[in-house]
Amino acid sequence: MVGKNVVRACIRDMQAYIPGDAAEDAAVVKLNQNENRYPPSPRAVKAIESALAGVAIYPESTSRTLREAAATVYDVPVDHVIAGNGSDDILRILFHCCCNPGDVAVAFHPTYSYYATLAAMHDVRYRLIDFEGEYRLPDSLNLDDAKLVFLPNPNAPTGTVFPEAEIRRLLQAVPNGLVVVDEAYADFCAVTAMPLLREFDNLVIVRTFSKSYSLAGLRVGLGFARPELLAELEKVRDFYNVDRLAQAGAEAALLDQDWLRYIAGKVAATRDATITALRELGLTVYDSGANFVLVRFPSAARAREIYEGLRSRNVLVRYFDTRGIDDCLRVSIGTDTDMDVFKKELEALLE
Ligand code: PMP
Repeated sequence: MVGKNVVRACIRDMQAYIPGDAAEDAAVVKLNQNENRYPPSPRAVKAIESALAGVAIYPESTSRTLREAAATVYDVPVDHVIAGNGSDDILRILFHCCCNPGDVAVAFHPTYSYYATLAAMHDVRYRLIDFEGEYRLPDSLNLDDAKLVFLPNPNAPTGTVFPEAEIRRLLQAVPNGLVVVDEAYADFCAVTAMPLLREFDNLVIVRTFSKSYSLAGLRVGLGFARPELLAELEKVRDFYNVDRLAQAGAEAALLDQDWLRYIAGKVAATRDATITALRELGLTVYDSGANFVLVRFPSAARAREIYEGLRSRNVLVRYFDTRGIDDCLRVSIGTDTDMDVFKKELEALLE
C-alpha cells in the first residue's frame, strides 16, 4: 500500500497540534485562544478593503512596505525584519532553515506546545527543561548543544514576564544556536528584547498581529534578527507567504500605534482587575503580563469540571491535559463585559 507508507516516519509518529475550539457562535464568550475581543484599528480595516481591488495580482513577495513600517515602529533597519503568515510561519521557517534531523531544540516547560510539534515535524530532538519555582528560568543553563532555544516573553500559558537580564543570561548560555524570544504577548506589558539585537547575533525575536493588533484572522507575524541570518531565512520562506490583504492590513495597523496602545492598555487593565477578582475568590492566579491568566484549582478533576461547567454555560476557556498544569485553566482576557459573564458563571460553579 503506497499512500501513507511514503510519509516520513517522524510525521507518522507525531501528534498533530490541537488548537483551541474555534467558536463562531456570537452567544459564546470566547476566552480560549488568546485572541483580542476588541476590534482592530479602523485604519487597518479600511486598508484591507482598499487592497481587495488588487487581488488579481500576486502580492509583493517580501512584504516590503509592511517591513518598512515595522522598521520605523521598532526602530531597527528594514533588513532586520522578515514577514510571515502568522508568527507560526516564522517559527516553521526557523526549523526548516536551521535544523538537520537529530539536532536539538530546547524550550522550558510549560510553554507554547507548537515548538514541540515543529521539532517532531523536522525530526529534531526536543528537550523540555522544567522552569524552577513559579516559572523562573533555571539557575544553571547547559545549552551548548542547542540549535534553537525558545522562550515566549511573556510566557504562554503562564503569563510570566522575564526581565532583560534573564534574556541576556539565556543568550549567553547558547553559544552554538539561536535564542528565539517569542514576543506574541509583549504589547500587553511593554517588554521587548529588541534593543539586544545590536548586541547579540544569536537573537531572533518573533512578533504577531494576532493578539494586541486584533488581527488573528489575517495571519501575519514578523521576525527580527541580524541581516546575515535573515538572508538565509528568506531562502526558505514561501515567496508569497503574506497575501495582499494581510500586508495592507498589518501595515496600517502598525502605523496606528495610538490604537494599539489604547486597546492593549484596556486589556492589561482588565487583566489586572481579573487577577484581583479571582484571588478574592480564593483561587491561585499567577501574575501575568499577557492577555490571559493561568488559574490553578485544587485538583485536575476540579479544573476539568469547571472547564466543562463553563462550556455548558457558553463560556470557553482552555484546559491543557499537560503535566504540571492539568489542574489549571487558562483564561483569555476579553472585554469587561466578557469577564463579568465569566466571573458570574465561575462563581456559580464554585458555590
Ligand atoms: N507564539 C505563541 C507563544 C503563541 O501563543 C501563539 C498563538 N497561539 C503564537 C506564537 C502563534 O501566533 P500566530 O501564528 O497567530 O501569529
